[in-house]
Amino acid sequence: MFKPKAIYYEKEIINYQLGKELMEKYKDVPKVEIENHNNIEEMRKKSNKEFMDMKRNLIIGVRKTHKFVENHKTSDYLVPYTSSGCTAACMYCYLVCNYNKCSYLRLFVNREQMLDKIIKTAEKSEKELTFEIGSNSDLVLENSITENLVWTIENFKNATKGRLTFPTKFDMVDDILNLDHKGKVTVRMSVNPEYIINRVEFGTSRLDNRIEAINKLKEAGYDVGILIAPVIMVENWKDLYLELIKILDSKLSKKVKKEAFFEIIFMTYSYVHTKINEEAFPNAINLYNKEIMRGGGRGKYRYKEEYKKDGEIFLREQMNKYFPNNKIEYIV
Ligand code: SF4
Repeated sequence: MFKPKAIYYEKEIINYQLGKELMEKYKDVPKVEIENHNNIEEMRKKSNKEFMDMKRNLIIGVRKTHKFVENHKTSDYLVPYTSSGCTAACMYCYLVCNYNKCSYLRLFVNREQMLDKIIKTAEKSEKELTFEIGSNSDLVLENSITENLVWTIENFKNATKGRLTFPTKFDMVDDILNLDHKGKVTVRMSVNPEYIINRVEFGTSRLDNRIEAINKLKEAGYDVGILIAPVIMVENWKDLYLELIKILDSKLSKKVKKEAFFEIIFMTYSYVHTKINEEAFPNAINLYNKEIMRGGGRGKYRYKEEYKKDGEIFLREQMNKYFPNNKIEYIV
């Protein structure tokens, strides 16, 4: 259970039901009033070494930008939803940005406004739309603090159109198992070899627990997908990922194996990550490998095309062998 060290809050949050509930829940935690959750001067000044310590705080505010971004992978729109950032610390997390301002968990209490926009957009559209609500945070983790996932599923079920989807690296799914989701929600479990989880995905759930969670979600009638992501080309990566695929084959339930689709994403990394990680996690493995990575613009690093191509061929071969009937939505 996450127990924040301090709460940084915008004063308007008390005009919202969730804001009141969170202030009551954390009444014994020290509070700091802030003007704007996007710009907390005190946090901006902290050094990279304090990265993990910063994540022990909870920021609570009102989301002001509600712009949907078109998407063409497993959804039609990426939707800014009820949280941003995370209490865990995957070393490659793309939510990390300059000056640490996006690393910690921010909760947004105006959930009615956000869900209402999703429902209205879905109902106005001729096409059945899918909304990705988990691209800015991990909603299963967030739910353990706010119960927002329970609230969302219960309040979305009667919408006449539209679907929701989100990825997760966490196993705390019991709260949503008995909900009447009406088949409108797809949960995508993100997996990696246990070796990578231990050394890179600090604070997330173990592989076996993630597999058990996705089996439970399928049993509860949710649509499910598996994200093998991000694929990280450490020295013996092919052995590790082959082992992962075999574990998935042996431990995913028959129902999951019958219906789940896959997404496979190679890691992208950045100069900012290298700087934060070398100071915040000096003993961790180095994910930047200049032999096999290239600059991808704006300080980003990607695997060189020839390595990625070889990786894609390898993964497709193994997936064809172990999951011949499951669709791979994309490999990027
Ligand atoms: S669990 Fe997801 S949101 Fe949290 S640090 Fe890892 S990649 Fe980022």
